[in-house]
Amino acid sequence: ATPTSIMVGTGKAAANGILFKGGEHLEKTHQLEAIVLDKTGTITKGKPEVTDFTGDQEALQLLASAEKGSEHPLAEAIVAYATEQGVNFLEVEAFDAIPGHGIETTINGKEIFVGNRKLMNERNIEVGEAEHQLAAYEIEGKTAMLIAIDGVFRGIVAVADTIKETAPQAIQQLQAQGLAVIMLTGDNDRTAQAIAKQVGIDQVIAQVLPEEKADRVKEIQLQGKKVAMVGDGVNDAPALAIADIGIAIGTGTDVAIETADVTILGGELLLLPKAIAISHATIRNIR
Ligand code: ADP
Ligand code: MG
Repeated sequence: ATPTSIMVGTGKAAANGILFKGGEHLEKTHQLEAIVLDKTGTITKGKPEVTDFTGDQEALQLLASAEKGSEHPLAEAIVAYATEQGVNFLEVEAFDAIPGHGIETTINGKEIFVGNRKLMNERNIEVGEAEHQLAAYEIEGKTAMLIAIDGVFRGIVAVADTIKETAPQAIQQLQAQGLAVIMLTGDNDRTAQAIAKQVGIDQVIAQVLPEEKADRVKEIQLQGKKVAMVGDGVNDAPALAIADIGIAIGTGTDVAIETADVTILGGELLLLPKAIAISHATIRNIR
């Protein structure tokens, strides 16, 4: 590889909004065989909205007040919804985020849990028939969360996040370039499969705890594949670091951008196949 051609390649990439931290990453991109994409904020817009709520007014007030302390995109959706409904927010006495599970808070002396079935199982909350409703939301590609107040199940809140318009096209191009495309998410398997289907991905790794994302990437490497990880969140940073190429996308949190080898400005997924194409063109010119 001549330094000049690499410089031309990274320059061309930069002009397109693809920022390589160094020329060696452009060469490595040429060798990629698999690309792992985070779901929320990478494949989807990361701006979820509440679509359904099955509980009563008190449950909504406690749910929304509890989520006010969380910075998770799911929490923002719930707070926005409750605000629209004219809910008065209550003061939170204690707040704990449980990564990959949900939140645990105390309000007016009441203990509130909001999160997935894993959280409810671990806290011995009986969900009963609501499991059917939960599954129905998930088949529609929605993320459904359960609310429990003082140990009693009180309702489901379902949230939908739409895919980026160009996601199917970008994924098709990556597959045409010979890459295995894999979705990685902390969300449940049914929701993940529904979103994957919308964008044309057939390999899904779901229900992965934030701290396990890097392990899943490592497993792909152990199969002998050179792999890129694409993500936007703090959650994704260890996986970005371990991947052969870490790609931060979109508005990306600072941690993701710092850890990544490549930053894609603006969240456009079509820039992924573009980056691959530029690396191929550059290496071709060298040979
Ligand atoms: P992702 O990989 O899609 O970014 P996370 O690992 O952040 O997902 O979260 C996984 C799951 O944990 C969510 O789908 C949700 O069920 C639950 N969860 C996380 N944060 C919250 C929260 N603030 N309120 C309710 N549930 C949450
Ligand atoms: Mg994410």
